[in-house]
Amino acid sequence: ATPTALLVGTGRGAQLGILIKGPEVLESTRTVDTVVLDKTGTVTTGQMSLVEVVGDADALRLAAAVEAASEHPVARAVVAGHPGPLPAVEDFMNAAGSGVTGTVEGHRVRVGRTGAEPVPADLAAAVAEAEEAGRTAVLVVVDGAVRAVLVVADTVRPTSAAAIAALRDLGLAPVLLTGDSAGAAAAVARQVGLDPDAGEVVSGVLPAGKVDVVARLQEQGRVVAMVGDGVNDAAALARADLGLAMGTGTDVAIEAGDVTLVRADLSAAADAVRLSRRTLATIK
Ligand code: ADP
Ligand code: MG
Repeated sequence: ATPTALLVGTGRGAQLGILIKGPEVLESTRTVDTVVLDKTGTVTTGQMSLVEVVGDADALRLAAAVEAASEHPVARAVVAGHPGPLPAVEDFMNAAGSGVTGTVEGHRVRVGRTGAEPVPADLAAAVAEAEEAGRTAVLVVVDGAVRAVLVVADTVRPTSAAAIAALRDLGLAPVLLTGDSAGAAAAVARQVGLDPDAGEVVSGVLPAGKVDVVARLQEQGRVVAMVGDGVNDAAALARADLGLAMGTGTDVAIEAGDVTLVRADLSAAADAVRLSRRTLATIK
């Protein structure tokens, strides 16, 4: 490959809002056959909002107090959903990919995904209904008892479905990867044309597990591109044959990626693959 053509391709990428770390990245893009897509903040905007509180109304106040110390999109939605002053929190703990815990007004409060605590039937029904609608449901647990369900809604980026279709047209097999529940992941998948029954969705993955999913695909002989935005995507972005970070993403994700998608739009991922193929075609 002549460096000149690759440099031209890199410059053309910059015009398209595709920032490529080095000209050699265009070459590794050529053989990619699988694209792993993070859900929250990548396929969706990641700007979540609280849409419903089911159960004890005061649980929202306690939950917002604990979530105030977290940067997670779910946490931001919960805090924004509670206007007014918040009580102080002691012994805050963040369990990546699962939730937060803290002591508020003498009570131990946990906010996060379903855990060991038994969930009352009415609250379990609320969780199931929310997830069926593609929403994220988190529990508020006070002194070991599940007191409320907070329903948080995200928005699928308007360009995601067309971009995933374009990636398929380019011969790439898409896989949605998320720490969220199977139900919420499946609902989002269907909205963007992915089939959960065809193995196109991997859900309930802890932050440390995302890199293992990429590694497993590579062991199967796949050449993997990964698109992500979060702290929990950084290792997977670094491990992937081609790491694409959303421009709106965290600094660690952008540092770990080979490419930054300035437009924060999945269609830029398809543009990057097309650009690479065209650039290399001019060299051949
Ligand atoms: P994703 O892969 O979709 O970006 P994460 O791995 O960050 O998701 O989180 C997985 C799940 O863990 C969330 O869907 C949520 O149920 C729960 N969770 C993580 N952090 C928090 C938090 N700060 N508050 C409540 N729930 C959380
Ligand atoms: Mg994300």
